[in-house]
Amino acid sequence: MASERRPTEDRLPTHDVIVVGGGIVGAGIAQGCAARGWSVLLLEASSPAAGTSSRSSKLIHGGLRYLETGQLGLVRESLRERAILTRVAPSLVRLVPFHIPVYRDSARGPLTIRAGLSLYSLLGGLRPESRFVRLEPEALAARDGLTSEGLRAVYRYQDGQTDDAALTRAVLASARSLGAEVRIPAELEVAEQSGDRVRVRFSAGEGTSTATAPVVVLAAGPWANELRALCHPTLPPLPIELVQGTHIECPGEIAAGIYYLEAADDRRPFFVMPWRGRTLIGTTERRIDSIARCAPTEEEIEYLRRSVAARFPGRDTEVLEAWAGARVLESAVGSANRRSREAVTDQREESGSAIVTIAGGKLTGYRALAEERIRAFAHLLPRLERRARTSELPLSDPEPENLGDLTIRAPKEDDSASPLPGRRP
Ligand SMILES: Cc1cc2nc3c(=O)[nH]c(=O)nc-3n(C[C@H](O)[C@H](O)[C@H](O)COP(=O)(O)OP(=O)(O)OC[C@H]3O[C@@H](n4cnc5c(N)ncnc54)[C@H](O)[C@@H]3O)c2cc1C
Repeated sequence: MASERRPTEDRLPTHDVIVVGGGIVGAGIAQGCAARGWSVLLLEASSPAAGTSSRSSKLIHGGLRYLETGQLGLVRESLRERAILTRVAPSLVRLVPFHIPVYRDSARGPLTIRAGLSLYSLLGGLRPESRFVRLEPEALAARDGLTSEGLRAVYRYQDGQTDDAALTRAVLASARSLGAEVRIPAELEVAEQSGDRVRVRFSAGEGTSTATAPVVVLAAGPWANELRALCHPTLPPLPIELVQGTHIECPGEIAAGIYYLEAADDRRPFFVMPWRGRTLIGTTERRIDSIARCAPTEEEIEYLRRSVAARFPGRDTEVLEAWAGARVLESAVGSANRRSREAVTDQREESGSAIVTIAGGKLTGYRALAEERIRAFAHLLPRLERRARTSELPLSDPEPENLGDLTIRAPKEDDSASPLPGRRP
């Protein structure tokens, strides 16, 4: 019997960078590498944004609450990225009014909120879109049924909202237009690092394929440690935890924009947002020991329903849909809500090759994160003429019909309580 011919290393498809994971982080790395002229292969096991990148709160924001934990650098960078994304992706990332109602029993009083918003505005470069205003407490009661009982003040500022899955598709499409090869479905099975190459084997459709590159980036978010276990020599697990966040969708779209509230049960912040003709409410925080266990629980759903009912007593809280995503946080003691939102990264380098792992971070900061990680492995790759800069490349969803009902409502022209710039008719 003829022996099976194994392809030699020389015959294997060779790329400069192989990216594993088609969430926002993998898409950002692929785009950034392709923009530098490198040949890129991206492997996604399921579909674009199948993981956390379609289960976020869909905000492109600095993260006002991260000020409380002193993450000023993260907030400043996120606000810078927000400005870039509203410019390059105007159909996908829009500024919307955010409201912070302050009640007599709120943990944070008007002065704290005012101080936080002032710092937020400062970190946002004091640009017109960073301004905030204090409204009359009654201004919102009539529109969305916000209870005015015990209401001391309402602050309004602006932040970004997006369709996270559409944004991921748009970044993938941009990578592709710069020459990146995107294979979906394609699931990593093994990554062997030896000398100046990493050889990956992946299942794609019916068969198994192999490819090599000096740099392999594992951008599988909550699957990071599963992927590290597929590497040879084995990569030890990263010191990370998975924290599940659940959202619910209820009937009827909230009208005035996004509300940023404190939950009656435990004073945790949560959002009430307009989303595709419905109201989206989230999120919770619940540690899980495996991504396979990521699913909304009855307890989380009831917590969210109670939280919204406490501030919007007349609203219908029937749950039309509930979904959960998993955050990757660096292992540490203390409440997940107060933990760093920076990505956890690792790079194993040997004789001219590297396996890079990226887990966590924010949707908002995907581009800056990609730029920073690419700089860390660029010395392993040829210096080529840049094709483009990601801060300037326009982004639009290749499936625009999906955006038809991405309704992000702007305040009405006659809304006298809306002195913010950036209104849209
Ligand atoms: C509840 C919640 C709310 C959030 N809200 C916000 C927010 O409002 N704003 C914000 O900025 N950030 C937010 N975040 C954070 C943000 O969503 C994440 O940081 C981001 O989506 C992570 O993207 P990722 O690409 O790392 O992971 P993922 O999107 O999970 O992508 C990983 C991909 O890897 C693929 N994969 C897994 N195994 C393999 C394999 N063997 N081979 C090939 N592919 C594989 C998966 O199919 C998946 O598509 C939120 C997160 C959560 C959990």
